Amino acid sequence: FIKKENKNDFLMFKRSFTEGFKERLTLETELHRALENKDFVLHFQPQVNIKNNEIIGLEALCRWNHPNRGIVSPGEFIPLAEKTGLIVELGDWVIREACRQNKIWQDLGLPKVKVSVNLSAKQFLQRDLVDNIANILDETGLEPQYLEIEITESMAMTNEKFIIETLKGFKELGVNVALDDFGTGYSSLKYLSQFPLSKLKIDRLFIQEKTEQNIAIVKTIIHLSHSLNLKVIAEGVENEEDLSFLIEENCDEVQGYYFSKPVPDTKVKELFSKT
Ligand code: C2E
Ligand code: MG
Ligand code: MG
Ligand code: MG
Repeated sequence: FIKKENKNDFLMFKRSFTEGFKERLTLETELHRALENKDFVLHFQPQVNIKNNEIIGLEALCRWNHPNRGIVSPGEFIPLAEKTGLIVELGDWVIREACRQNKIWQDLGLPKVKVSVNLSAKQFLQRDLVDNIANILDETGLEPQYLEIEITESMAMTNEKFIIETLKGFKELGVNVALDDFGTGYSSLKYLSQFPLSKLKIDRLFIQEKTEQNIAIVKTIIHLSHSLNLKVIAEGVENEEDLSFLIEENCDEVQGYYFSKPVPDTKVKELFSKT
């Protein structure tokens, strides 16, 4: 049934399919093993108060320290971890590690700041998430106001009632919640006013391409945040121009390569001595 001229295409497709499949299988097996071996590390990127340049938070970003491939970025393994359900265990490790590390810095006498952790949808839909995080805070001794959870718009849109319950749980616990990559999803304004959030994070897309439309969008998000009594932070601030635009527009906080790339835990102390 394969026409002659298509036969090669088909064989090629077949080969790349099997290879892709094999690669996925290997990656999946390796991901399992990496979890057992604790081959993951967190890097930390500062979040800065735009008014006085002080660090007010550190976003924990996960990296896979792969034995052959070296450092693998989350864009490559988080989707697979989500698909296979491994994200729940990995995410649990990330939260615990971020809290543990933040408590260590506080005990060392560094200024007390929040640590922000990204949550994936599957993780956020775990029934016992709030209790689980309460336990982690208990075990690590980190006070709840020094933890921030980052969720994305799309995950906030599924199962609305359940999400509101979870968010209320975090509020009662005293943990902050930020809406990440804001503007790229499809939040309805109704949800924004119903969800007990502490912060909106403007997606770096709008900062990096300063088209007339994006400038208008950034201004609107900042106004919106302040009208809803939320803090607003801009991601992807790479240069002086990005920063002065955001100062002009009365943005509260900034994060991006202009201040620092995400750094390993051993470099975090230096971040504080720079500011
Ligand atoms: P995100 O939460 O939006 O994190 C911001 C990403 O932008 C990070 O990429 C960061 O390194 C990068 N970034 C920061 N400043 C700049 C800048 O000025 N310019 C540019 N071009 N990029 C900048 P990273 O570390 O590769 O993480 C990518 C995404 O992977 C994160 O996006 C987050 O959605 C996800 N992720 C990372 N760690 C975790 C984790 O522990 N759990 C889950 N579920 N997702 C994670
Ligand atoms: Mg984030
Ligand atoms: Mg983001
Ligand atoms: Mg992002």
